[in-house]
Amino acid sequence: MATETLHFLLVPHIGPGHTIPMIDMAKLLAKQPNVMVTIATTPLNAVRYGVTKAELPFRFLELPFPTAEAGLPEGCEMTDKIPSVDLVPNFLAAIDMLQQKLEERFGMLKPRPNCIISDKYMSWTGDFADKHQIPRIMFDGMSCFNELCYNNLYVTKVFDGLPESQPFVVPGLPDKIELTRNQLPPEFNPSSIDTSAFRQRARDAEVKAYGVVINSFEELEQEYVHEYKKLRKGKVWCIGPLSLSLNNDSEKSQRGNVSSINEDQCLKWLDSKKPESVVYSCFGSLVRVNTPQLIELGLALEASNHPFIWVIRSDTREKEVEEWLSESGFEERVKDRGLIIRGWAPQVLILSHPSIGGFLTHCGWNSTLESVCAGIPMITWPQFAEQFINEKLVVQVLGIGVSVGVDSVVHVGEEERFGVKVKREGVQKAIEKVMECGIEGIERRNKAKEIGKMANDAIKEGGSSSLNLRLLIQDILHYAKLQM
Ligand code: UDP
Repeated sequence: MATETLHFLLVPHIGPGHTIPMIDMAKLLAKQPNVMVTIATTPLNAVRYGVTKAELPFRFLELPFPTAEAGLPEGCEMTDKIPSVDLVPNFLAAIDMLQQKLEERFGMLKPRPNCIISDKYMSWTGDFADKHQIPRIMFDGMSCFNELCYNNLYVTKVFDGLPESQPFVVPGLPDKIELTRNQLPPEFNPSSIDTSAFRQRARDAEVKAYGVVINSFEELEQEYVHEYKKLRKGKVWCIGPLSLSLNNDSEKSQRGNVSSINEDQCLKWLDSKKPESVVYSCFGSLVRVNTPQLIELGLALEASNHPFIWVIRSDTREKEVEEWLSESGFEERVKDRGLIIRGWAPQVLILSHPSIGGFLTHCGWNSTLESVCAGIPMITWPQFAEQFINEKLVVQVLGIGVSVGVDSVVHVGEEERFGVKVKREGVQKAIEKVMECGIEGIERRNKAKEIGKMANDAIKEGGSSSLNLRLLIQDILHYAKLQM
């Protein structure tokens, strides 16, 4: 290579929980000397993640999303815009059609990419990378703890034949981690929508990937990083927490979507509260809690007597949720200490405010790691996907969370069927444990702060993640030189 500029092509999965950290990653990579970054995504995603902003350090390559061809409504270009679970198979088919779209535009990519970093669920990028002889690094948006759990479940199938609610130990892990079949991700615990072929392709492409880049930091899960590196012959790079690459409040508040609350209004509300007094409740981008369960959650927040921020995304249930909020008098009763955000919250901005004392979370990995970065203990309420595994890491291994005690997944789109899983008393108890100022509560909080400091140190010059980023670039540079 004449200039020795390395060109990374990033292909995120088009769901917010996957694209958001990849955009952060793109910014981080593009800051490195002699590195350029292109993100291949659909036009509406490009708009959502900033194509209109002049100052972006990377460029977008737009891949038209074949909505009509796949039988999807116009504008359905991201997982949080799929109007009904029945359309999930169509959405997955459309994702696979993106291979052809990239193929048609590949010649436009100058210089030729030296490396593809693509999401696990964009499995077609595996064949694409093979065809063009470009190393493909997988990004799954999860921790090494999780990757190792998944792998060991895939390999051993230890849960096969067990009753759904019987606990079993995940084999081959440094800690004794118990799960039930009911708590497993869809790969091992499918919903009524059959996505098994799509997931199997993702697994096949994962196994043959050149390496894996992880949004985590080594100090968080040292033994798991070690074991996972052994499994992947060393080619694992923990370069996170990626959310810490955001530079200022404005970047934090604009991350992932247009915020439903004005940044100043939000900060003013938080400034008016005592340090570490506020409970922040948000279930990520995809969870849609059914109305009776949502009411239990609201009443628990009210009964806990702490100030709170409650992010509500009710979509099709909006009318009945709004009726309950007003007709039951809830919103009026809590107006002095509860801030309800309908829609998208500036989560990283909120979590980094000193008034936040606890995060009631669904345990999506991004949210979990964002809480870790802010040094905030968690009230854990996993819903689906890998979230029960994340809960184990937070509560059992790290000791920085308290579970509300939910015992099985609620599959996306099937919320009504699952009714109320946790009563208000259970939620309230977990909130109180996390927020209390007794010895246990203080120890948990101090541990969260200690780990938060490690997270912030990891990305600094000389920190483990900053070093890993350099090692990743050197590896790809070396690979590129060998190909010359
Ligand atoms: N997020 C946000 N505001 C919201 C909801 C989510 O900023 O109102 C961000 C959050 O900070 C995180 C991502 O969206 O970075 C959600 O990812 P996560 O892995 O936690 O959950 P998922 O949405 O994938 O279930």
